[in-house]
Amino acid sequence: MVEIKDEGICRFCLKTFAGRSMGRHLRACQAKKSIDSQRRATDKKLRSIYHLKIWGYKPFWLHIEAASTVTLSQLDGFLRNIWLECCGHLSEFTIDGIGYAGSFMGDVPELDAETMDIALQQVLNLKDKFEYEYDFGTTTDLQGQVFAIRRGVIDDGIQILARNTRVQFPCHLCGKPATEIDVEDDQLYCPTCFSDELGDDYDMSLPVVNSPRMGECGYTGDTNFDDFDAQIEAES
Ligand SMILES: [Zn+2]
Ligand SMILES: [Zn+2]
Ligand SMILES: [Zn+2]
Repeated sequence: MVEIKDEGICRFCLKTFAGRSMGRHLRACQAKKSIDSQRRATDKKLRSIYHLKIWGYKPFWLHIEAASTVTLSQLDGFLRNIWLECCGHLSEFTIDGIGYAGSFMGDVPELDAETMDIALQQVLNLKDKFEYEYDFGTTTDLQGQVFAIRRGVIDDGIQILARNTRVQFPCHLCGKPATEIDVEDDQLYCPTCFSDELGDDYDMSLPVVNSPRMGECGYTGDTNFDDFDAQIEAES
């Protein structure tokens, strides 16, 4: 029987922590602190840096850092790439009761949203929470919070600090690791049971992937693997 674990690997010290303690760890991680201080010593261009925690349903979560000037639009692009994009659906952030949507939504007035082309620092302060929806049909809901703000040196764009380790979901028939979801009845299958029960030509299934959008619409997770994940999986 496989066990669903909620944990991830700190990308600085490479140690494994439970999802609920990763934020605290990242703030205290000596390996991260020493990298941050080396960068401050060699590059004097200090910026305000936002540490965000973003989560879907358990156990899908991300800890990321970005300069405070990064826009909601860039964050939207990042989330689509790592977790969400299937067929270019609309998306929206909600912060303090105000909606922020992509600029292409200008001709959808009933949505009544502000533009996503706005910097994190203009809409979010320390500890503030936000919501995010991708696809208003089969919606994937995410939540986020500004976990910490620091001054330091950071590259442009968004860096992953840690992310939940790929979850081994059990096949609903035999309990072995599942690789496919039957979207008709929302059940998980290992390759053997899938073949036996549904047949190899069955096409109403989607792959099990490391994303809160797995099994929704046409999501296959083709882009949701980065170099770090690939290396960790190759070693395990
Ligand atoms: Zn660490
Ligand atoms: Zn879709
Ligand atoms: Zn099975």
